[in-house]
Amino acid sequence: MTKHVLVTGGAGYIGSHACKALRNAGYVPVTFDSLLTGWEGAVKFGPFEQGDLADRARLDEVFAKWKPVAVMHFAALSLVGESMKDPGKYWRTNVLCALNLIEAAVAANCKQFVFSSTCATYGDQDGVLLDENARQLPINAYGGSKRAIEDMLRDFGASDGLRSVIFRYFNVAGCDPEAEIGENHEPETHLIPLMLDAIDGRRPALTVFGSDYPTPDGTCIRDYVHVSDLVDAHVLGLKWLEDGKPSDVFCLGSGTGFSVREVIAKSRSVTNRDVPIIEGERRPGDAASLVCGSTKAVKELGWQPKRSDLETMIADAWRWHQSPRFGA
Ligand code: UDP
Repeated sequence: MTKHVLVTGGAGYIGSHACKALRNAGYVPVTFDSLLTGWEGAVKFGPFEQGDLADRARLDEVFAKWKPVAVMHFAALSLVGESMKDPGKYWRTNVLCALNLIEAAVAANCKQFVFSSTCATYGDQDGVLLDENARQLPINAYGGSKRAIEDMLRDFGASDGLRSVIFRYFNVAGCDPEAEIGENHEPETHLIPLMLDAIDGRRPALTVFGSDYPTPDGTCIRDYVHVSDLVDAHVLGLKWLEDGKPSDVFCLGSGTGFSVREVIAKSRSVTNRDVPIIEGERRPGDAASLVCGSTKAVKELGWQPKRSDLETMIADAWRWHQSPRFGA
């Protein structure tokens, strides 16, 4: 029997990689995307339904047409800095669209839900190694909006039997090793693609956002996970739900943090090129250090990250960066 999975944001960076992983695991990913930040060229692994999550009638139509066994919800606004400047946009878009989606799923009796949440729900906790039990104290509207969606999923679990697997990601990096799809945001704000742009001259330089943080070299520390490993966890999360297991939360990190300067140094060695740098101010909303263990995902889901060492992530991103990619 063909199993369709509705993938919101399937034309985006993580969503498109999830579609490939789902296709490889025997599912048919149905991408639902507004193309506000996604690329139609990234929809390669299943059907495409263009639509806005704010449009409940359109969602009902898509649920009725494909009868998905589950939803994977990636579509969201996800820029920490922007969420500090325009919190209303984040609360309105992320929370109301998720509510619409959850209600449409429940109405269509599609009660398995995989949600892409974030370590930004933890806020700034002085460099402690975070895990699923850490308190959620977001310091920006992006993290706040994602925490609210987590709460919503729990409430619909209690009222309607919606079962969910929530993944709290740390920093996602790298690209499909076969370079069929990759990372292209417009505007781009993420460290590694911006750095690769500075390396190949598409941008004049990379600005380092703050070097007076309480970390060994003064720059922020992040826990980077390869996008292919991340989406493998999502397929395992879907299987978890399909096996009838209860709702749960998993952190997806590598347990190792790298500072901005360490990422720059590794990029120099991987690409064998210089990275022009400007020392800049702190970016509002940035936590000094975000690192997490993934013990629970490894133990409970059987997750095995394969490409999440810094060198492989940068090498895969660099290969995509040099390919004739969409949106470049
Ligand atoms: N960063 C930076 N310069 C940039 C973009 C990012 O120094 O042009 C830093 C940022 O302050 C953070 C880290 O790189 O400490 C990762 O940022 P990114 O935006 O990639 O992901 P986030 O941590 O916001 O999810």
